[in-house]
Amino acid sequence: MKKLVKNAYILDMVGEEANLRKADILVSGNQIAKIEPEIEEQVDEKINAKNMIVMPGLVNTHTHLAMSIFRGYKDDQKLMDWLENAIFPVEDKLEPDDIYWNSFLSCIEMIKSGTTTCNDMYFGMNKVIESIEATGLRAVVAWCMTDDAIRDKVEKTREYAKKYNVPGSRIKIFTSPHAPYSCNPDTIKLCVDLAKELKTGLHIHLSETLDEEKTIYERYDKRGTEYLNDLGVFDVPVVLAHGIYISDSDIAILKNIKGGISHNPISNCKLSSGICDVVKLRKNGINVGLGTDGIGSTATLDMFEEMKMAAYLQKVKTKNPTSITAYEILKMATIEGAKVLGLEDEIGTLEVGKKADMIFIKTDKIHLCPENDVCANIAYSANGADVDTVMIDGNIIMQNRKMIKINEKEVMREVKKIAKRLL
Ligand SMILES: [Zn+2]
Repeated sequence: MKKLVKNAYILDMVGEEANLRKADILVSGNQIAKIEPEIEEQVDEKINAKNMIVMPGLVNTHTHLAMSIFRGYKDDQKLMDWLENAIFPVEDKLEPDDIYWNSFLSCIEMIKSGTTTCNDMYFGMNKVIESIEATGLRAVVAWCMTDDAIRDKVEKTREYAKKYNVPGSRIKIFTSPHAPYSCNPDTIKLCVDLAKELKTGLHIHLSETLDEEKTIYERYDKRGTEYLNDLGVFDVPVVLAHGIYISDSDIAILKNIKGGISHNPISNCKLSSGICDVVKLRKNGINVGLGTDGIGSTATLDMFEEMKMAAYLQKVKTKNPTSITAYEILKMATIEGAKVLGLEDEIGTLEVGKKADMIFIKTDKIHLCPENDVCANIAYSANGADVDTVMIDGNIIMQNRKMIKINEKEVMREVKKIAKRLL
């Protein structure tokens, strides 16, 4: 199956400076086969990208898809109070089908706002995967582990990794201890051993709040990063969600890791967690991608909002507007996010040989006019609803803002029913 994208302005996200150019893109199967000024070839489908910027799909490096049900639920609380009093009691009552429909809603929300790859951590991974399969998203998925029923979750992770961690798969399985404060050391070590056995990565929350860092210090007489290092966590590729209270000694450890940090600026603001020192981490060669976290702590899964917030927070933190640029923010949302997930050879840029994951942003809009600087327009002025068309793995998933093959209304109906029952 061949598709040809005509009349596009391409922002390929390759290199240290923006390279916007007019070109056509030939997609063969699930790969980009050619990017050239004028391609004339017999194809199965032509897509007219006039008045659109075509760029790599956005990469959301940390989320909990099934938490869509918590949108606006008992907001404005401290993280631990919110988790213990609002979230955990409801999560205990979630049925497998609830996880499926809640995740389905999140997948649609992500696709409709330009995300083509996400990194999910939740219990009920089998149902999360079903929703990802149904929507056509690309994803890294993990069965979130705490200390209970651990053997069962390890077995499920093994079983799913065997099925999905194979060449050409759109889904990859990681291991995932929830966080240093919520897992005992044996659980974390078990996840490290499992990641080694399956030759895969590990996804964990780290250093989200100062209280959490204090708890770890009181328990183990170590900083969170030091504690994970001593447990061998950095022997495998990692995605570290948040990483707000990272010291210079932590940076010395993290400099050598494979993977990187997922920065979730809106969640960190909403829960008053703090501001990750993205500029410093990047200066030290640590990959930093962007993430939304789950709906409860972020309110939307729109990565355009995360881009803006990430940029502005760094400018405030450093009191220096030159500390990070629009293009660097776009890199964090694409190729750097791909590096955090270990997928940089497959996605994150538009290049021949890479997977055909791309988004088409409509530019003939009042809030995107004039186009003095396309990167600034995308990072600071655009929003998720400006994404017109989404291609993932060579398949058109959304066109003219309509989801192909998916009944959005049915999904909303199901999630409303679950919310009514549980909340
Ligand atoms: Zn999280």
